[in-house]
Amino acid sequence: MEYFLEVVLPIPLEKLFTYKISEAEADFIQAGMRVAVPFGKTKIYTALAYKVHTHAPEAYEPKEIYQILDERPVVDKVQLKHWEWVANYYMCTLGEVVRSALPSAFLLESETLILPNKNAKVDELQLTDDEFLIYEALQHQTALKISEVSDILDKKNVLKIVNAMVHKGIVLQKEELYEQYRPKLVRYVKLAEQFEGEEQLSELLNDLTRAPKQSQVVLSLFQLRAKSAKPIPISELEKESGGSRSVIKALIDKNILEEYHIRKDRVEFDGRSGDVGAIELNEHQHRALDDIQHGFDEEKPVLLHGVTSSGKTEVYVKLIKKCLDEGKQALYLLPEIALTSQLINRLQQYFGHQVSVYHSKYSIHERVEVWNNVLNDAEKARIVIGARSSLFLPFTNLGLVVVDEEHENSFKQFDPAPRYQARDAAVVLAALHSANIVLGSATPSIESMYNAKTAKYGYASMAHRFGDVLMPDINLVDIKEATRKRRMKGHFSETLIKAIEEALEEGGQIILFQNRRGFAPVVECTTCGHVAQCPNCDVSLTYHQHRNQLRCHYCGYHMALQQACLACGSPTLDKKGFGTEQIQQELGQLFPDVSVGRMDLDTTRGKYAYEKIISSFENQEMDILVGTQMVTKGLDFRNVSLVGIMNADSMLNFPDYRAHERSFQMLTQVAGRAGRTKKRGKVLIQTYNPYHQILQQVTTNNYDKMFQEQFYEREQFKYPPLVRLIKITLKDKDFNKLNEAADWMAGSLRNVLGTQILGPEYPPVARIRRDYLKNILIKIPRKQPLAQTKNSIKRIEKSFNAISKYKSIRLVYNVDHI
Ligand code: ADP
Ligand code: ZN
Ligand code: ZN
Repeated sequence: MEYFLEVVLPIPLEKLFTYKISEAEADFIQAGMRVAVPFGKTKIYTALAYKVHTHAPEAYEPKEIYQILDERPVVDKVQLKHWEWVANYYMCTLGEVVRSALPSAFLLESETLILPNKNAKVDELQLTDDEFLIYEALQHQTALKISEVSDILDKKNVLKIVNAMVHKGIVLQKEELYEQYRPKLVRYVKLAEQFEGEEQLSELLNDLTRAPKQSQVVLSLFQLRAKSAKPIPISELEKESGGSRSVIKALIDKNILEEYHIRKDRVEFDGRSGDVGAIELNEHQHRALDDIQHGFDEEKPVLLHGVTSSGKTEVYVKLIKKCLDEGKQALYLLPEIALTSQLINRLQQYFGHQVSVYHSKYSIHERVEVWNNVLNDAEKARIVIGARSSLFLPFTNLGLVVVDEEHENSFKQFDPAPRYQARDAAVVLAALHSANIVLGSATPSIESMYNAKTAKYGYASMAHRFGDVLMPDINLVDIKEATRKRRMKGHFSETLIKAIEEALEEGGQIILFQNRRGFAPVVECTTCGHVAQCPNCDVSLTYHQHRNQLRCHYCGYHMALQQACLACGSPTLDKKGFGTEQIQQELGQLFPDVSVGRMDLDTTRGKYAYEKIISSFENQEMDILVGTQMVTKGLDFRNVSLVGIMNADSMLNFPDYRAHERSFQMLTQVAGRAGRTKKRGKVLIQTYNPYHQILQQVTTNNYDKMFQEQFYEREQFKYPPLVRLIKITLKDKDFNKLNEAADWMAGSLRNVLGTQILGPEYPPVARIRRDYLKNILIKIPRKQPLAQTKNSIKRIEKSFNAISKYKSIRLVYNVDHI
């Protein structure tokens, strides 16, 4: 009898691939184990075992696998099922899901580059012969491909060896160089080791008798140590001792104290966790919890609609507690990992070491660690907090999923495939596990609210802020009128300036929101009208004053700002529109004594930059924070009394059927940053169009009205959730070919589908990175079977791919969320 193994290769192949295996291998291999396999002439891949059987493939002569890499599956059966759903639903291949879901350390392949780990202390005697050869080769070469390792060792099966070296930290994978995650660093102090011990300590205190402040600090450190075994943050010592930073610094300089840093999300807990039982929910939270439980009892996902600062997190904490008490795992999904440190703190306070954090920007090492902990249902990973990719972890015992800020756009992955909506994929995941799932937001997406209204989801709401804190007082400022009357200073209305002055006087902090970075988005010649454009994309270049550069926000192209117009040579260049950089500059002129920070993509690139800005604002080292939508996200700043929106109009006018919904969400969320404590917060929204219905709905906090109107429009114009959408984007560098191909595609779709097809049309930015783009939109009535429609589309794609002149054209599918 011959045995065969079907595997998933981590590449965009439509079909599974089959290899030959021995009987012993057939006995051993289970679905979800990894195997090293040859592919094509020279490639080696790590593939995922899918199925063992005895039917030889007809189309090709199967090769033998190289090696089995695991003792037991690293991917669970339910997980595989979920991945297949993702591939099917979002119209990509299972291989693409596998590539995106598994930590890259699990997917070594012939092209993977490995590098020496310069920070590792390597004991050469501990290395095996093979490991030593690789180690030595890497002393002379900066990097090696796995295929080169094969040559060095004269073996084709090297993945296991390299895997082991990666795990031991002797070598790094190339991807690890891009460590982009910026965790929060906390500064801690401890007594230098030489003073540990009673004698040494009393000697020290003797020496310090003439420095009473310093000795007070040392004594306070002792008191803190007596209270708990936790590491002692400098800030806490400062508070406890009443000493200033300079006294502590003097002690550090004298080597009496040692300063060290711990990444906030990796702080080890001493095992004592706060008591979840001690949280007393208020009546609204109680009712919400009951309603959620009611939905769970009916086996429905539940939408928790709670205004900003209503205390949703505390409700989640209760749900998580219950889930853990039942011995199950909980997953807490967040739209953006930047948000985690505040949340991690809160969850660790209650659940201590049972909390793990996972996301794609973590180092490979840590990701593998969390993966294995989840797979083993380890204590340490009972609760996983993560961005969308944590959906793909190997849960075996999932009891609860929390999707926080469920309306957020960043739950959608746009590139590369799988282009999935993590919130929706989480609902499916929960169903596969028979787990509970709650989606929470102050501004639920139209889709989720529709699901709640049609009783597909359960519903719970909290309409009051916790602790009777008032909702912020939101006012619109008509800048059309102000501009006409020349009452604007730069981009600031008199009203806004006055409000800033008042807030500053009372010691409050201020957030100013402008949804564009840079100084000015357009540089135009007033003589000939020429606008500086990106050579690769269909967009104008944004002026960045700090670097005196023009930059493209799509492809990163940049050039120095010219003195004269590139078209006509006149020195008449005018900067139009404004971004965060310009606001910061104007603030410098309006309020020269006030410290102003800025948070946007440009200021948060450096290592830890994001966390530094946040903690510096939290510590009130800045009075005003200017930012893009980064400042709208769930951050909890206690002292913010004023939020200003510099201009609400560009958001509202964006050409997208979701623009109004998004504007409502963004404005409500940023307004929610104001007045989170007793004093009522104030929000000013500058606009040319104060009668816009969305702005009216924001000021009156009227979500229901917003929902009604948006829903009506979607009914009228047939948009989700009333129909399903699939967008096909065609991309090519050749403009004419693209147009021809898009027409062919749209024509075939019209012939076959008989459903509403829109386009082909150019998107608002019709060329990006030298590729021309064209979209075709397919609207599928809810009653029409989706799977069948997708199959028809895929069949048309096959015929399309068979046309040789269209070979270079790339097709991208986006389902639902476009
Ligand atoms: P949301 O996530 O709904 O915006 P949060 O969960 O951040 O709101 O709660 C707002 C504030 O109220 C937080 O500082 C939180 O600690 C506090 N809070 C909420 N519920 C309780 C409770 N039951 N007991 C004590 N404090 C609470
Ligand atoms: Zn000109
Ligand atoms: Zn560009």
